[in-house]
Amino acid sequence: MSSLLFQHVSIIDGTGNAPQADMAVLVSDGRIAAIEKHGLLAYNEQETEPYDLNGMTLLPGLIDCHVHILMDGGPEGRIKPEESLGLCLLRAAYHARCTLEAGITTVRDLGGQAHLEFALREAIAAGYCSGPRLVLAGKLLSMTSAGTEAFAGMYREADGADEVRKAAREQLKAGADVIKVMATGAVMTPGEEPGASQYSLAEMQVAAEEAHKRGRKMAAHAHGAAGILTAVQAGADTIEHGSLLCDSPEAISLMAERGVFLVPTLAAGIMSQHAEDIPAFMAEKDQRLLEAHQRSVRLALAAGVPIAMGTDAGVPFVKHGDNAIELPLMVNVGLTPMQAIIASTRNAARALGLESEIGTIEVGKRADLLILEGDPLEDIEIVTRKECIRMVVLDGKVVA
Ligand SMILES: [Zn+2]
Repeated sequence: MSSLLFQHVSIIDGTGNAPQADMAVLVSDGRIAAIEKHGLLAYNEQETEPYDLNGMTLLPGLIDCHVHILMDGGPEGRIKPEESLGLCLLRAAYHARCTLEAGITTVRDLGGQAHLEFALREAIAAGYCSGPRLVLAGKLLSMTSAGTEAFAGMYREADGADEVRKAAREQLKAGADVIKVMATGAVMTPGEEPGASQYSLAEMQVAAEEAHKRGRKMAAHAHGAAGILTAVQAGADTIEHGSLLCDSPEAISLMAERGVFLVPTLAAGIMSQHAEDIPAFMAEKDQRLLEAHQRSVRLALAAGVPIAMGTDAGVPFVKHGDNAIELPLMVNVGLTPMQAIIASTRNAARALGLESEIGTIEVGKRADLLILEGDPLEDIEIVTRKECIRMVVLDGKVVA
């Protein structure tokens, strides 16, 4: 059977269009070949496997723009130095399978470990293990800072424009699709202050230039308002976290004007519910940012800043495969269920520069599909319930 036919299904196509009931979707050669009202779609019966999906909803496979596929979501918040790289990589293969089976068909890794994530991508492509499409940053670029000690293998320390240029080129050489820079300090790093700026405008401009001339994106980790503004001015395509964005109306309006995506990673705030279990410095910083972070997302949404889904999966208590918890969290801060779905499909594809291939249910797009029992517009929580996930299709193949 070279084609798949999904019948009697409701479609939420990811474009923002109203859901369409009782539809048929034909998938051939890895792509969406036809979409019609049920009964109107012509197909070759000998070569087509039909699925009756009455009562179910078909939507684009979800896209998580911010994960750390090598990190395990354990309370330490980092890879233990005594663990071997071999174990890390095998565990990442498990993370990748959990992610895909949960209906997340593309993830962007914004900080791997010793470039093992590139090997994982090769292994998935070779069929040795299963996982989502991987969009990779390689090592993240940081100024000389405490982060590079705490996260050896994930950070590439580089100071000044020339070193940053070299460091960005190293990631591109390894196969990076995106360059990640640290515009401010981080929550999970002892000795860093999230509100404080790190890279200068000149340093980030160089990273953006190297990414953009290869047709790639630049993602900026940024909590503090000054760092966010500098990153946007430097040419960042996505702002990761954006916790204190509420302090800078200028940054909000510049993001809206330039179409710079906010990737809120609200799921990372779950660690503050486990303050007893995680390192005290992490709990303190996370709790301190929580309220401003939610306000920042609300203000960004109101100002027309495009929002793309990202979880920071791999950080404490955010497990790979639980990525969809970000959707109800986005709804909690004010997105409608439809806006949360768009953030996780079309917008996320745009943030990654993959909108011509994935992110919507349209003829010609790659057939990355999530089929749910029920209607996520009525109850957004169903995206997080394993028993509601009826099928996951990647590249036209049923994978779960
Ligand atoms: Zn992260």
